[in-house]
Amino acid sequence: MTFDQLGLLPELLRAIKDAGYTTPTPIQVQAIPIIMAGKDVMGGAQTGTGKTAGFTLPLLQRLARHASSSPSPARHPVRALILAPTRELAMQVHQSVVTYSKHLPLRSVCIYGGVDIRPQIAELREGREIVVATPGRLLDHVQQKSVSFNFVEVLVLDEADRMLDMGFIPDIKRILAMLPKERQSLLFSATFSNEIKNLADSMLKAPQLIEVARRNTVIETITHRVYPVASDLKRSLLVHLLTHQEGSGNTQQVLVFVGTKFGASRLAVYLARQGIAADAIHGDKSQQQRTEALEAFKSGKIRVLVATDVAARGLDIDDLPHVINYELPHTAEDYIHRIGRTGRAGKQGDATSLFAPEESQRLADIERLIKRPIERVEITGFNIGTATPERGRERGGGGHRREHEEHRREREVKQHDRRPPPHLPAPVAHVPRLDPRLPRLDFDPNKPYVSKLGAVETSAEKPAATRPQKPVAALLGGFGRK
Ligand code: AMP
Repeated sequence: MTFDQLGLLPELLRAIKDAGYTTPTPIQVQAIPIIMAGKDVMGGAQTGTGKTAGFTLPLLQRLARHASSSPSPARHPVRALILAPTRELAMQVHQSVVTYSKHLPLRSVCIYGGVDIRPQIAELREGREIVVATPGRLLDHVQQKSVSFNFVEVLVLDEADRMLDMGFIPDIKRILAMLPKERQSLLFSATFSNEIKNLADSMLKAPQLIEVARRNTVIETITHRVYPVASDLKRSLLVHLLTHQEGSGNTQQVLVFVGTKFGASRLAVYLARQGIAADAIHGDKSQQQRTEALEAFKSGKIRVLVATDVAARGLDIDDLPHVINYELPHTAEDYIHRIGRTGRAGKQGDATSLFAPEESQRLADIERLIKRPIERVEITGFNIGTATPERGRERGGGGHRREHEEHRREREVKQHDRRPPPHLPAPVAHVPRLDPRLPRLDFDPNKPYVSKLGAVETSAEKPAATRPQKPVAALLGGFGRK
């Protein structure tokens, strides 16, 4: 299948050629004809699959009939609204719109918070056919009457599951209520909980289901490793992995995930002090700081970008060779989101996790979700129970106490999190090395999981918020056939 065979306009084919793409990705092959035909779509796809071009190209094709070089704002009303959960994702999607629409006289704007609203108002007043926006700032514009939705023909909701996680669903519903009823709607999500299904039910009409790479699948070209280590030795182990090549994969460009904003900043400063070019990206940084850090990382000026889950959501960094989980994520599905930054398009990738004994429940949840055990690698000097002078010093600093406190505060403010208070398992004194000669464990998600530590975990011990594990099609049985 080629782009020509998809029936795209010559202006779009030229832009695709300029971008250097030769063949459409599987989601593009599926989505482009359906969206061009004006149908609603429910898409199960993560970033890295080419989904942005998958919806942007047919959207531009549909709007091309309105393309006008007239300077009059009246000739450029908002025709398409694309909603994204984060500023970074909105900027990336907007960049795609700009790239693919370069040979068409269609205008677009990117609307997000944390920056002066006035230039955005000025752009909207000039007239823009395509608005890519985060929900909060878009509602600010509604309040200021700087945007009108009367002519909206297409709505795209990108990364709907993240919208839900970030508490944006009420904002989305307010925006939906303002849009014309006669419109095409597209919803993309990497995962489908009942809440997402309900939202889809309320906004889509007889949607076509598109699914690439089923949720909870892990890319085969990624090498997973966990390094058992006491939490107060993690920083030194990270520096060791970044400075000693043997066995730790490609460490030239590394995205490091941590659990808290405070932890991200603190770790980036520590790495910089150790002579490793690093910066942090998280929600408390200004938009300019985040953009600069991302650019510096992409261009290779900094080697390590330390990020929180929310800040890293949707980041599109080509050919990222290595993701390190400095802390394991609270939700096993976030492991898949995190490591999905590497091993794209069939390339080799490394997913390394620093695993402290108190995180054993999280690791067990991840292994159960990905249905495979992850190799444990021990490094002399960093094994559990190792005492070093640095460890004593770090303990005295009180940094970990502060970090624990911030973990607690961040958990409290997570609006969507309806879990009971997190269960902290008792520390485990010793994590046995996994003997490579042992047969590999075969996980059956429907049976109690026997962890490597010997404890039998029943479903009663699982966090209540674990999302349903069914494939999209099963969740949507009968969907759209009401
Ligand atoms: P996305 O999943 O939309 O975040 O896209 C991931 C990356 O794939 C982006 O860097 C796109 O520029 C790139 N991309 C999209 N479509 C294609 C294609 N057909 N061929 C090669 N690269 C593509």
